[in-house]
Amino acid sequence: MRAAILENNKFVIKDVPKPILDEYGDGAIIKVTGCGLCGSDIVKMRTGKAKNGSVLGHEVVGEIVEINSKTHFEIGDIVALGHHIPCFNCQYCWGGSYSMCRHFKMTNIIPGGFSEYIYVSEEHLHNTVFNVNLNLSHVEASFLEPLACCIRAVKRANLRDNSKSLVIGLGSIGILMGEAVKAFGNKVYGCDLKPDRVSYGEKFGFDKTFILQTEEETLQSFSEFAPVGFDTVFLTAGASSSLDFAVKSVRDGGTIIVFSSIKDDNGFKNNDIYYREITVMGSYSPSPMDLEDSMRLIEAGKVKVSGISTVYSLENINEALNDTVSNKIMKAYIQI
Ligand SMILES: [Zn+2]
Ligand SMILES: [Zn+2]
Repeated sequence: MRAAILENNKFVIKDVPKPILDEYGDGAIIKVTGCGLCGSDIVKMRTGKAKNGSVLGHEVVGEIVEINSKTHFEIGDIVALGHHIPCFNCQYCWGGSYSMCRHFKMTNIIPGGFSEYIYVSEEHLHNTVFNVNLNLSHVEASFLEPLACCIRAVKRANLRDNSKSLVIGLGSIGILMGEAVKAFGNKVYGCDLKPDRVSYGEKFGFDKTFILQTEEETLQSFSEFAPVGFDTVFLTAGASSSLDFAVKSVRDGGTIIVFSSIKDDNGFKNNDIYYREITVMGSYSPSPMDLEDSMRLIEAGKVKVSGISTVYSLENINEALNDTVSNKIMKAYIQI
């Protein structure tokens, strides 16, 4: 089968062996119809976390073509899925930190979404695989996992009624985060350096979006809508300067949700956190429950996921990568 193999920060399309169900016993083989290119795929490439020879891609949609399972799934089912599974029975899982569970980190699809076929285990089928409603396109269904990540962040933020949230960074994840906040019934504001992204935010239902000008000017324009600062700030931008900006945008006693990695691992200032009683909280990767909530919201049309992705063929995956990195597009979907 064809797959995009990682080689020195680029993808090379190669013929590799198709996963064989008999070698695993139970589970299913899925013929991948498409897979979203995630920011985390790019980070894994750039930081060397993903090794040469590996296959990336986890925002998978496809058709079950072989199965040996006790679940309700059948050959011909169109499914979307999450790639990691918590054990539900460890210190991390008991505390609700499902994405910290060691089993979660060890489990994955084989070999990865940017290939013609993947193997998913029986455990995946039980926990993280979902039928795709016929009225959804495969591109829409591919948002199952990224939206679930945002839903987890919004749940962790524990937003109260009438709270005001700010999303810093209006890339595809920022847009989904804003939509998730709205789906939970709260007000959301957004800001970005790029005017086209700011108008995207408006199109996707943000209450108000702002172009980041000088820090002073931007904070001034915030003050009209959130005079004492935002209750919650979702940090989806990867620039280290956004940490300081998040601290200035959040109200005293408010919460900053960290939702992206930054290159130079700078920290938040201790005395801001102490004297202003700021909560800084990370949110990383979704639980099976978040995936389920994500699918329900997409199916119900409560979160709009069409019009975000640009579609590329597997052969053009490097172009998709370059266009994503250069911010030419919001998000790439690789049709397989
Ligand atoms: Zn992802
Ligand atoms: Zn666990």
